[in-house]
Amino acid sequence: MRSFQVCTCGEPLQLSMHATPVPEGTEVLLRMLAAGVCHSDLHLSDGYFDLGGGKRLSVVERGMKLPVTLGHENVGEVVALGPKAAGIAIGQKVLVDPWMGCGECMVCKRGDEQLCTKPGSIGVFRNGGYSDHLLVPHSRYLFDIGDLPPEKVAPLACSGVTTFSALKKVGPTFATHPVVIIGAGGLGLMAIALHKAMGGHSTIAVDIDPGKRAAAKQAGASAVIDGAAPDAVAKIVAATDGGSWATIDLVGSSATARLGFDSLMKAGRLIVVGLYGGDITLSLPPFPMRALTLQGSYTGSLNDMRELMELVKRTGLPPVPVATRRLDDVNAALADLRAGKVIGRVVLTPA
Ligand SMILES: [Zn+2]
Ligand SMILES: [Zn+2]
Repeated sequence: MRSFQVCTCGEPLQLSMHATPVPEGTEVLLRMLAAGVCHSDLHLSDGYFDLGGGKRLSVVERGMKLPVTLGHENVGEVVALGPKAAGIAIGQKVLVDPWMGCGECMVCKRGDEQLCTKPGSIGVFRNGGYSDHLLVPHSRYLFDIGDLPPEKVAPLACSGVTTFSALKKVGPTFATHPVVIIGAGGLGLMAIALHKAMGGHSTIAVDIDPGKRAAAKQAGASAVIDGAAPDAVAKIVAATDGGSWATIDLVGSSATARLGFDSLMKAGRLIVVGLYGGDITLSLPPFPMRALTLQGSYTGSLNDMRELMELVKRTGLPPVPVATRRLDDVNAALADLRAGKVIGRVVLTPA
């Protein structure tokens, strides 16, 4: 089995050759068909997230063990089953929910494995899909994709479920008022498309890059705003007729969180999703006086993934641009993503 692994943080992924695993117990072995390249793979290969103020969150201290194969947006074909694997058959093509926990604790039992304090996520804490094969611990993480194209389905595992779960947090104004989406990269275009499929009112996209703003407009955003403009707050307030009821920050930098927070309506809600890094300072009295909500959202639950697959089967795949590249080009794909050259999603295919 050929896999691309983080061996040393901050260095390119290295090709590693090892024996293809034989599934045991409830495990399921997939032959990889498609693996999406996500922005968080950059942080994982760097080895840290920026906490702002010069502080860093080390992924190794958080429990990532090296070497590890990256890749958490995976679609594969079932090729071998452990003796206790059930509910899945050889030959099925499946999307893998990578956000698994211990499966035993109260958080996992209530259905939020993605928030388990002992996370076991594929492509982070266990080997992922930048490889020709992928071992999945249990069939409950697998979702049949039918005849859908694997490279278009793969981004649903992170980009899709993350934006779907954030959109579900918008609340009662979802169908009556615009949602402001900050960041029009892969996540942003996915959010715009899913918002429409879910029956949302409209989206206003904010990005500093004119190419990404154009892509957002084409994807169906009713308005686009330059996040770097000195009057960006005023522009968002004007476009939302007095302030945003709900803003989803898919970047998560000091600048975007500030912009999102400062352009909320009274009782508005800022949902921070992106992990770019940084910090903001909030004056407390306006926080209760304006009845604001600041909320984080991390990936999504198994139930979110199930609902998302049902939505996609009912309304069609989100029309997010997908470019495929060979698995062997993974380091070049990561470099392009780091340089901001990617519109939509790059998906690696083994062939
Ligand atoms: Zn991701
Ligand atoms: Zn758990």
